[in-house]
Amino acid sequence: MMFRTLLDLVYPRFCAGCGGAVGANESHVCWDCLSAIQYVAHPYCSHCGDPVFGRVDEAFTCYTCSSATPHFDRARSAARYQGPLQEIMRNFKYRKGLWTGDDIAQLLLACVNSHFDVDEVDAVAFVPLYPARQRQRGYNQAEVLAAAVAHRLRKPLLRRCLARVRPTPSQTGLTAKARASNVENAFKVRRPGHVQGRSVLLVDDVMTTGATVNECARVLKKAGASRVWVATVARG
Ligand SMILES: [Zn+2]
Ligand SMILES: [Zn+2]
Repeated sequence: MMFRTLLDLVYPRFCAGCGGAVGANESHVCWDCLSAIQYVAHPYCSHCGDPVFGRVDEAFTCYTCSSATPHFDRARSAARYQGPLQEIMRNFKYRKGLWTGDDIAQLLLACVNSHFDVDEVDAVAFVPLYPARQRQRGYNQAEVLAAAVAHRLRKPLLRRCLARVRPTPSQTGLTAKARASNVENAFKVRRPGHVQGRSVLLVDDVMTTGATVNECARVLKKAGASRVWVATVARG
């Protein structure tokens, strides 16, 4: 791919996970790091997709989802947020490691294709950044991933539909309860007509307690979305 070749001239071929060298025809993640990625597999919560330990049946619902049903209809993540994937995602998010976007999007697409009936998706949305934050970072990593997924699935991307209407401090280090109140009323659907009666696939890079995607799902549903499925690359 021309674009990729150009990027390779600009960015050296180092593994985004460990910094080691990768061959010219390899992806931007070396084999060692690729094989260290822990894919989310059964058992996990049937609603939020959170991995659990021990033997549970396919219909298992975790304590969090049983105590308060999430606003999204289902959430799934490709792999655990640890080891090389954590480093890859951090690079992608904070150090403008955008050249790894292709590899990360592949991971996400595999997850979307295996957990959701993509024919039933009407549009793809993403967790927005607050405008000042986005200007500072230069891009929204969730939007980059959502655009790749929408393109591959041939579905419309809802670019300016969902908005973050107030800045929120980082969720890192907060308890589940604090995370939920931190993002409360932080999002708004600017174009309800674009989601009314539609099945929306909401994309984000990392999901931890699910407070952010849950709040996004709440406003999408309130605006009339018939269904909200959530797909993230990593699960903390
Ligand atoms: Zn590596
Ligand atoms: Zn759950």
